[in-house]
Amino acid sequence: MQISNMTENLPQDAGENSLWGDTAAANPVTETLEDSLQVDVLVVGGGYTGLSSALHLAEKDASVVLLEAKSIGFGGSGRNAGLVNAGVWKSPDYVEQQLGQEQGSRFNQTLRNSPNLVFELVKRYRIDCDASQCGTINIAHKASAMRYLEHRCEQMQKIGASVEILDGDAAQALSGSPAYRHGGILDSTAGTIHPLNYAYGLAQAAAAQGARLYQQSPLESLSRQGNYWLAETENGQVTAEQVVIATNAYADDRSQGVQDSTLPVFIFQCATATLPPAIAKSIIPQRHGLWDTQTLMTSSRVDNEGRLVMSSAGSLRGFHRPIRSNWMMRMRNRLYPQARGLPWAYHWTGQVGLTSTRLLRIQVLAPGVFAPAGFNGRGIGPGTVIGKHLADTLVSGNRDEFPFQIECLQRESWRKSRSACYEYGTLALQLIDSR
Ligand SMILES: Cc1cc2nc3c(=O)[nH]c(=O)nc-3n(C[C@H](O)[C@H](O)[C@H](O)COP(=O)(O)OP(=O)(O)OC[C@H]3O[C@@H](n4cnc5c(N)ncnc54)[C@H](O)[C@@H]3O)c2cc1C
Repeated sequence: MQISNMTENLPQDAGENSLWGDTAAANPVTETLEDSLQVDVLVVGGGYTGLSSALHLAEKDASVVLLEAKSIGFGGSGRNAGLVNAGVWKSPDYVEQQLGQEQGSRFNQTLRNSPNLVFELVKRYRIDCDASQCGTINIAHKASAMRYLEHRCEQMQKIGASVEILDGDAAQALSGSPAYRHGGILDSTAGTIHPLNYAYGLAQAAAAQGARLYQQSPLESLSRQGNYWLAETENGQVTAEQVVIATNAYADDRSQGVQDSTLPVFIFQCATATLPPAIAKSIIPQRHGLWDTQTLMTSSRVDNEGRLVMSSAGSLRGFHRPIRSNWMMRMRNRLYPQARGLPWAYHWTGQVGLTSTRLLRIQVLAPGVFAPAGFNGRGIGPGTVIGKHLADTLVSGNRDEFPFQIECLQRESWRKSRSACYEYGTLALQLIDSR
């Protein structure tokens, strides 16, 4: 078992057999850094967190350069399921237990409305990413899961989230699945996007506001030179007063230690070609995003062209690919028997960064060097919101308004072995489930 090669074996292009790569608009960023530049803020990483930071910094007239190692949206931002959900995976009470009442409450309040910022930016910058604030449903896969969902819904309502419980009939009607007949939580502020096009749209908006974006330009080194940070790439350099390292689960060994702060685990997705109209109409008819309560959580959505997209835990490397895509086919047959017999047209893998607490972290690596990480598989809203708040704080210099706790670099222990346990544990469950 080659644990150390797990991250290196990732597909080298966000578009590899990915629905999003195949259907994306043109990448608006084409340049690599071959210059020596001086700016207020350097942003490292061209996903939502980095792009939102760059956009909001540029909106405030800060000069900003963004460096992306591969291509815009190469990381989780170009590979995800596109469910723009509010809050984090963990429930509001858990967040307060972990962070304390005051800090936890600020955290919950700030992320409760995160989909609104995403959809506002889409509107303001006319981002063409199939955005729909149609709501998402956390759906029960068995009757007993409703106890957990009711409890979660109560907590979310307490913090002011616009969520409601769906009964079994509503859940079945909105999912189009005979298996999802127990109920769920509907969040009507949430919705869906084409993830890679949202990243491209943020990049275009940031560039239009004056940010300079470069791809194929990995940060190689970062050093202190007097009052500034000097960042070097293979063919260029950037001097900046402050730095945001937004590399999350795709942090490489040049990411100043950020790679140690999360546990890399994989999620795979499969998508059909456009479904025949009658079938497309019968599955998730109002086009909500769905994710369920199974141990091997499965999400489903139907995109604008009527393709069914499903995701679950694990990678599609090597021999995992047939096992997992067959497992997903059986899962699909059970959840949406209308689509039985249709092949998968796309399958791809992405990596998420887990933390032990399952809460994201805003870390300060050195004076003026910030590293948000650990989105735990929910980063569309949170990454966008954190980019905005970081920009506000970096420009104003006032950390009191920043709604998240700022910590020093947190290192996850036994990362590679824990990631491998997750990878092979999910594979074992999928194999057992297939019998
Ligand atoms: C399969 C999958 C499904 C998901 N589904 C959802 C969902 O439905 N809803 C949701 O909210 N979230 C979802 N997520 C999580 C979400 O995609 C991520 O949390 C989010 O994209 C993180 O954004 P980011 O900008 O922080 O990091 P990323 O998008 O990962 O960007 C980090 C970037 O840093 C770059 N980089 C790394 N090292 C360097 C370097 N040295 N120099 C320059 N650049 C560097 C990488 O190339 C990468 O492009 C999912 C994730 C995956 C993988």
